[in-house]
Amino acid sequence: MRMIDIIEKKKKNIELSDEEIKYFIEGISDSSIPKYQTSALLMAIYFNDLTNNEIFSFTKYMIDSGDRIDLSSIHGIKVDKHSSGGVGDTTTIILAPLIASLGIPFAKMSGRGLGHTGGTIDKLESIQGFNTSIDIKDFLKQVNKINACVCGQTKNIAYADKILYALRDVTATVNNMGLIASSIMSKKIASGADKIVLDIKIGNGAFIENFDDGVKLAKIMVDIGEHFNREVICVLTDMSQVLGYAVGNSIEIKEAIDVLKNNGPEDLTELVVVLASYMSKLANKEYTKDDIRNKLKDDSALNKFSEIIKYQTNNKITDYRNIQFNKPKYSCVIKSPKNGYIKSIDTKLIGNVVMKIGGGRQEVNDEIDYSVGLYYYKKIGDYVKAGDVISEVFYNDMEDSYKIINEITKDLLNSFTLTDTFVEKNKLILGVVTNKGIEKF
Ligand code: URA
Ligand code: CA
Repeated sequence: MRMIDIIEKKKKNIELSDEEIKYFIEGISDSSIPKYQTSALLMAIYFNDLTNNEIFSFTKYMIDSGDRIDLSSIHGIKVDKHSSGGVGDTTTIILAPLIASLGIPFAKMSGRGLGHTGGTIDKLESIQGFNTSIDIKDFLKQVNKINACVCGQTKNIAYADKILYALRDVTATVNNMGLIASSIMSKKIASGADKIVLDIKIGNGAFIENFDDGVKLAKIMVDIGEHFNREVICVLTDMSQVLGYAVGNSIEIKEAIDVLKNNGPEDLTELVVVLASYMSKLANKEYTKDDIRNKLKDDSALNKFSEIIKYQTNNKITDYRNIQFNKPKYSCVIKSPKNGYIKSIDTKLIGNVVMKIGGGRQEVNDEIDYSVGLYYYKKIGDYVKAGDVISEVFYNDMEDSYKIINEITKDLLNSFTLTDTFVEKNKLILGVVTNKGIEKF
């Protein structure tokens, strides 16, 4: 087999065989295929798309290219949850104790943030002493003991995907449905999930900007799930504004705790309850949304959160009240220059502001300042008056502080548009895709 023939074939939009895809994925894993040929094939795939059969083969060989996690020693159905990435998204941190408080195991490996989106593991590490590097034996032990553990990926899951993703990132081939779907699903399946709830983010803070593309991606993921015997539910949710108010690491943990006290932002609380209800459905324990809200009202989920912290700080912190967050030195506010309804919000820009003040990474090895971040108080459809505070930013000394603060002040003033005419609030849950079809809300 020769790589050039595979590229030629895909260029002519002829379906690749299972053997050809195996050759390709194994070739990128053992570096026998040079990156320029991989890049050429990626671009051919970008323009011609993958067929379902090709997507299944891609997923299969990407799973085989790395380690697989065996969760069979955990009792019950293992339901995983994955978000396609957004701004201010703390759902995993809230869902872990919430799902565990329903008696359903939550065994999750999460990632770090890169670019304008934050990562669950970084947020959790803003809790001093919180350990996310847990070996698989202790991970399983903890889940069997307290029903929840969130740790970083220690094993080499879907090795070929790491190589492919890095190349897609620099060849403008990230946003292809088949490539995204096989990338996400290969990692989920290799991580040992029986069933999966996917939160597909749609809007200018996500990499999918419109509903129809979200549905297309969701259908492919559901199909992959069926092929590999994993039931998948995709929830399509709005990401055209910040989720909750907080963006940053420590302040997002504080916001997650507010939700666990049933005192958090409405949108974030709603999303968590909806995701939890689908997870419980997949776990064959159909709790109503009221049952789930009750776990927020009666402190069950909050107490479970303290338990997780106790375990993952090795008994150093035994109660969420004892978490000590570093305080940022400075703050500034951004005010509306005039009256009007908020018509749109540039969510990616807001994510990037937090990165610029040190709350996120531009490069994989950048260090994070956990204490910095911002609150974005306004939502689409809100009426604001001149002088109303739109956002409050918390920061520390940085190299070029003065220049950066000037720049982010401008960014945040540009992050929203106002209009004189009434604007509807955005729906948060846009639709659900399952193996039975699409439900649009
Ligand atoms: N997240 C992934 O893991 N893979 C993609 O291709 C896109 C988002
Ligand atoms: Ca938030």
